[in-house]
Amino acid sequence: MPDRSFLNWPFFEDRHRELAEHLDTWCAKNLPVDHHDVDAACRELVAKLGKDGWLKPTALDTDNPGPLDVRTLCITRETLARHDGLADFAFAMQGLGTGALSLFGAPDQQQWLSKTRAGKAISAFALSEPRSGSDVANTEMTATRDGDGYVLTGEKTWISNGGIADLYVVFARTGDAPGAKGLSAFLVPGDAKGLGIAERLEVIAPHPLARLSFDQVRLPASALIGKPGDGFRIAMSVLDVFRSTVGAAALGFARRALDESIKRVAERKLFGAPMAELQMVQGHIADMALDVDAAALLVYRAAWTKDMGAARVTREAAMAKLFATDKAQEVIDKAVQLHGGDGVRKGHIVESLYREIRALRIYEGASDVQKVVIARQVMGAA
Ligand SMILES: Cc1cc2nc3c(=O)[nH]c(=O)nc-3n(C[C@H](O)[C@H](O)[C@H](O)COP(=O)(O)OP(=O)(O)OC[C@H]3O[C@@H](n4cnc5c(N)ncnc54)[C@H](O)[C@@H]3O)c2cc1C
Repeated sequence: MPDRSFLNWPFFEDRHRELAEHLDTWCAKNLPVDHHDVDAACRELVAKLGKDGWLKPTALDTDNPGPLDVRTLCITRETLARHDGLADFAFAMQGLGTGALSLFGAPDQQQWLSKTRAGKAISAFALSEPRSGSDVANTEMTATRDGDGYVLTGEKTWISNGGIADLYVVFARTGDAPGAKGLSAFLVPGDAKGLGIAERLEVIAPHPLARLSFDQVRLPASALIGKPGDGFRIAMSVLDVFRSTVGAAALGFARRALDESIKRVAERKLFGAPMAELQMVQGHIADMALDVDAAALLVYRAAWTKDMGAARVTREAAMAKLFATDKAQEVIDKAVQLHGGDGVRKGHIVESLYREIRALRIYEGASDVQKVVIARQVMGAA
């Protein structure tokens, strides 16, 4: 039985504990789906998660508005990731893709949210470009005024759900202001004329991913989210909510790796006794458990702090994401080692975790970027 004692920590309320239990049961019955065709799998997952109500926390409920509950987002991601990386991805993107609308959208823009929360529309977040990933201030895509509206021209790359999304939140340069100051955010429907898939991108843990071209995509003025020049602030506010949830997904992968390893060392006999009796094996298990608990403390501290009303959790979220993703990589690597040859066998759960975890240390701010953020926060506060 996996360790669930963390749910007794004071960060949580009973509703979080109930959610964790019910979702776990749902996952055991419904996951994984067939991953053979990732586009079809993601569509199926979004529809299934939506139908059974699990996507509701990903975006603002316009009938009953309130802040997004980051602990709910984190527990859901951790639980889904423990069962199936693609299910976690499908859930996470419904939040990241609509975060700008939940936080800054006009009422007509927020009409999309009832669809994304019900799993009837798929969303995407389009910030990165071929020459601006970590360096967001270097965004080159332009949005020029055209009568009442805007015309978007340029490219976005590494866009999760690229090609299958019904709506994209796209960041583009509207003004002459330098760097991050000249950016604005736009709501772009997936069927907008001039929006095309330049390339589908394949990665080690497959999911829908594309480079998108924007060839004179005309948008009405009502597509602008917030005010001109708000784009960087909007992107950073969205990441401030969702960054700790990346740590939560990493935690789910790490917890699964630990659970699988505990089972393996209990069952596998070496030199006439269970592997679990070897002290060096116990050392690995202890290190893994320690990293899992420490990551969980940082992730749920960040989530709790945000839920308690902190305007920003830049430092807490950066620490949670950095530590949880880097340590999950180490935990999973140990799990592979403890599984011997089986650990690198295609299709084995720890082999797939080994591939799943890697990108989390790169997207939504690479580990090195999180270190810069933490150092600035700590030195700035001194
Ligand atoms: C699987 C996957 C899904 C993604 N999904 C999305 C998405 O949905 N939407 C979206 O907009 N983007 C998405 N991205 C893009 C992702 O956010 C970028 O890949 C990331 O920001 C890094 O940018 P880059 O790839 O251009 O690398 P670069 O910016 O070239 O950085 C390369 C490396 O340099 C190092 N580095 C960067 N900055 C610093 C620094 N200040 N100090 C020291 N070292 C540094 C880091 O190690 C970094 O990994 C996704 C990426 C992947 C891999």
